[in-house]
Amino acid sequence: MENLTWVIGHKNPDTDSICSALAYAALKNEVTMEGFVAGRLGDVSPETQFVLDHFGVNAPELLADGKDKMLILVDHNEVAQSVDNLNEGVIKEIIDHHKIGDVQTKEPILFRNMPLGCTATIIYMNYLEYDVKPAPAIAGLLCSAILSDTLAFRSPTCTKMDKMAAEELAGIAGIEDIQAYAKDMFAAGSNLAEKTEKEIFYLDFKKFTAGNTTYGVGQVTSMNADELAALKGRMEKYMQDTFAEHEADMLFFMLTDILEEGSELLCVGEGAVETAKAAFHPESTDRVYLPGAVSRKKQIIPQLTEVLEAK
Ligand code: MN
Ligand code: MN
Repeated sequence: MENLTWVIGHKNPDTDSICSALAYAALKNEVTMEGFVAGRLGDVSPETQFVLDHFGVNAPELLADGKDKMLILVDHNEVAQSVDNLNEGVIKEIIDHHKIGDVQTKEPILFRNMPLGCTATIIYMNYLEYDVKPAPAIAGLLCSAILSDTLAFRSPTCTKMDKMAAEELAGIAGIEDIQAYAKDMFAAGSNLAEKTEKEIFYLDFKKFTAGNTTYGVGQVTSMNADELAALKGRMEKYMQDTFAEHEADMLFFMLTDILEEGSELLCVGEGAVETAKAAFHPESTDRVYLPGAVSRKKQIIPQLTEVLEAK
């Protein structure tokens, strides 16, 4: 086994998975003698690329296989979301903010999971605990991850801790106007005009199992209501046309308007609309619009899972 420990976020990486991995590897290298390197499990998203360019940081190296690797998982603790052959590697630590999943270890490890809005907030707490001040670029990455995961403090997953951390980090990073910076970052990420339906569908897609049902939920966020409205028909057609490819019983797709703070939920597959109606009791009968819903983790998955488990 090589004498390197890989810090990795989840597959289909978002800004938190990339930035928390980079920042935690940097901290570990500073406080220990060992070699830590950030890895990524897929392409960097346009939003994340904007952040990396803004702070002059290179993307982590691609890690294709976990076999014989020492690993620290950040921003996930589910086998299906982690590196291929995870079980043939050695998990040394997990730092996360999701529900406890199915990752198992052979020995006791540090497993820090906190119900906060972002893994980066926990990483920043680690910096404070080690009394290490993050370099401005690292502070910028962590701040960006918090803004991304919390939709600039609008998500119900956002806590006081997340907001405090982001504000302190913005000070270190030289971000003067947090909301203006977040707007630029989201705009870079939601440049949807040139993307195919498939690219948009997989921007942020995760699969879940509840009872006997496997379902997938994708999400796209935008600050532009017209852009989202134009996407609706395209995405619905794509989901119907390609339904069989996704190997799920039901597919859902959230068109989330960050400014309006609400999501339209597209539902494809036998029983999908009925499941959504039972889970969310939407006002309208011809569409599933969910005012206030912006968080898949907190406002979509638990509700769908409950209905499907009772089926
Ligand atoms: Mn994530
Ligand atoms: Mn996260």
